[in-house]
Amino acid sequence: MAVPNPYESAKQHVDRVGKMMGLDDSTIELLKTPRRELGVNFPVKMDDGSVRMFTGYRVQHNFARGPCKGGIRYHPNVTLDEVRALSMWMTWKCAVVGIPYGGAKGGVICNPKQLSLGELERITRRYTSEISVIIGPTKDIPAPDVYTNAQTMAWIMDTYSMNVGYSVPGIVTGKPIEIGGSRGREEATSRGVMYIAREAAKVEGMSLKGATVAVQGFGNVGWNAARLLHQESGCKIVAVSDSSGGIYDPKGLDPLKVHEHKKSADSVKDYLGAKNISNEELLELECDVLVPAALENVITKDNASRIKAKIVVEGANGPTTPEADMMLLKKGIMLVPDILANAGGVTVSYFEWVQDLQFLFWTTEQIKERLNEIMTNAFAKVYENAKSQKVDMRTGAYMVALKDVARAMELRGVYP
Ligand code: NAD
Repeated sequence: MAVPNPYESAKQHVDRVGKMMGLDDSTIELLKTPRRELGVNFPVKMDDGSVRMFTGYRVQHNFARGPCKGGIRYHPNVTLDEVRALSMWMTWKCAVVGIPYGGAKGGVICNPKQLSLGELERITRRYTSEISVIIGPTKDIPAPDVYTNAQTMAWIMDTYSMNVGYSVPGIVTGKPIEIGGSRGREEATSRGVMYIAREAAKVEGMSLKGATVAVQGFGNVGWNAARLLHQESGCKIVAVSDSSGGIYDPKGLDPLKVHEHKKSADSVKDYLGAKNISNEELLELECDVLVPAALENVITKDNASRIKAKIVVEGANGPTTPEADMMLLKKGIMLVPDILANAGGVTVSYFEWVQDLQFLFWTTEQIKERLNEIMTNAFAKVYENAKSQKVDMRTGAYMVALKDVARAMELRGVYP
């Protein structure tokens, strides 16, 4: 099966929605084109004394609405096109939730599972130095993504700070709280997913209490989504998975216990009382809410007809291909798109950055309240737009985003 190129999918959405909105060809071209792309090849000393070359990217898609913002991914399958797509989705995401950023993304081709902590630190520090020509607290602010975490952000913050000679907490978000991180950032994307699932259930006439939920991916987004949906919304988590496979228990899993099991077994698989299933099977389970929270292109034309969830909340970026989108729509499945559903992460990243710039920190309650307000309003805006324009939620969200970014570009004009 050919894997769809995420950059092509990302551009397709802009073309389709831009034309529907009556945007002119040059505006659509500008909206589709990343403004800056940096590729870096750099050497790193490995634990065995050898020196290995690594390749990384940082792409800044659009900065009409403010500084660029976006995560850094460490994965063997990172490509420039993937990073381009992810950077573009960041632009739309920031516009949908109305925070003053443009989109960026970074990635390093590596397999973190085969690297020691020391090697990961040296890769991170060297990559940070290499991309430091285009990042900065008022230029482009990285954050965690797949297989990077708060520790990775701490190394980035330290490297950048060492290079300029003073501490710059605002260079990254998703840092540990002790060095300027925000309360609530670790779980922010998932908390946003929960608020969005609540709003989606509401308009579908469902309650989240007792709703059955399957979550693909048990990393930052997936595990916290399963935990919060279980603990705070009373959902029954019937299945979860990670890169080695999934588990299913129709009676409901306790995400905290599964997390403990994963810590010792290195996988969610073989959890006592649950049935081992594949990632493909998880997606096709009978459930009320499906949360893909791993990687791109998992719901495709090959399996979309077998998806049985009533609501799909895209915790991951780009989990559904454009063809699959149309198939889910025909089946009457409510799909909340990534650029809305997982925007809680960048929203609390924005809160973190604002706190860092002011050296004034907020309480957990303030974070939750403000996040809830932003996510609830963004859902309402997209939903009402989708209803009034008689389009699906993804198209509705793209309309909101493209309109705001196009307007910002128009106001700023073309330099010189
Ligand atoms: P993570 O590295 O913390 O977790 C990734 C999870 O996916 C792990 O459990 C891993 O085992 C699993 N996984 C990897 N390959 C898989 C496969 N082939 N099949 C099934 N599972 C697989 O990453 P994360 O930060 O949780 O990111 C997950 C998704 O959410 C990504 O698409 C990311 O871009 C998106 N996202 C993350 C954030 C954030 O704040 N971290 C914000 C918005 C969107």
